[in-house]
Amino acid sequence: MAISTTNPPSCSVRDDVQRIGLPLIHGENVSRTFAGKEPIVAISGLSFDISERKITAIIGESGSGKSTLLKLIYGLLEADSGEVRYRGWRVPNPREKLIPGHDAMRMVSQGFDDLNTYANVWDNVASQLSNTDLEGKFSETEASLRRLRITHLAKQRIADLSGGEKQRVALARALVNNPEVLLMDEPFNQVDASFRDTLQRDIRSIVEETGLTVVLVSHDPAEVLAMADELIVLKDGQLMASGHPAQLYHQPPNAYTARLLAKSNILSTDEAQLLSLEAHTAVAIHPEWLSITTNEQGSFLVQDIQFKGFYQLVAVQHESVTLYVITNATDHLEDGIHVDIRVDHFHPLPGQSV
Ligand code: ADP
Ligand code: MG
Repeated sequence: MAISTTNPPSCSVRDDVQRIGLPLIHGENVSRTFAGKEPIVAISGLSFDISERKITAIIGESGSGKSTLLKLIYGLLEADSGEVRYRGWRVPNPREKLIPGHDAMRMVSQGFDDLNTYANVWDNVASQLSNTDLEGKFSETEASLRRLRITHLAKQRIADLSGGEKQRVALARALVNNPEVLLMDEPFNQVDASFRDTLQRDIRSIVEETGLTVVLVSHDPAEVLAMADELIVLKDGQLMASGHPAQLYHQPPNAYTARLLAKSNILSTDEAQLLSLEAHTAVAIHPEWLSITTNEQGSFLVQDIQFKGFYQLVAVQHESVTLYVITNATDHLEDGIHVDIRVDHFHPLPGQSV
């Protein structure tokens, strides 16, 4: 098959018509291995779609290939086989570009390596724009600071800012050029929990107002469930699931996704039968799908109680089965007491051996 050039000629109306309905970014059978004593397969035969004007989150346990995938999308890494296409055009690899990285995309990395620590916020953002239009440079910089709500920090040095403020500067800097796609690798790692919610909400508003497409890497289910429109779930460089967060949360297609998104209890068919569930497959039971009542004759024993604020996470055991249950923090439970467990809901996992 002939590979198209990476610099599209001016698109005709017909090209636009053909593009309608296609994902903005499409990966086809992408693989990437790193050399080591044993070769490390970071991404393996992965096909995926990323929709325009949406937030897509790539989630998976540590080492599952999330950062590698983000770099393959941006064109910072070359695929060994397969390809990533942006609006139908193959993303150029680092050998094909003087400055690696797709022109329509910007990436905000985990650290703040791109920021000039000793320059102030204004200069860090303005430096992304050329001097050919000084008025434009001023107004674009101002607009970007306003959008990220950091106008009041304009004259401060990066070195004097908090993690959350630095993250806002990094975003203002990435967005000042109006990229079509913003790529973020674990963007909230260094942001205090109290600032995280507002930053996540602000990013959502920017997506809604500007039509930006966001691809976000995260290992934190709370983060991706709150922010993302679509999920890509990775394990060992392979696709485990993709789709809408709520759907994958309530109907996980496999044990890995259920554990990752919901900290679900996974029971084998035999264990499910021990609980008298009418299941002929393994099942996922989210901790909030279970209820506890104290009963001296109850068959479960409370093993551990973790106080979590407005709820508690209780581990209970019966024979080989340990279950995690979410209860009200006001429920009076103690280690070692007997309880009954009611399963309010479970989700079958056909074809899963656990
Ligand atoms: P994640 O971001 O999900 O934690 P990565 O994409 O960083 O995972 O890494 C996936 C796998 O590839 C890991 O086993 C990692 O050690 C390996 N890997 C990533 N980058 C390199 C590299 N430049 N050289 C060698 N191995 C790498
Ligand atoms: Mg990573």
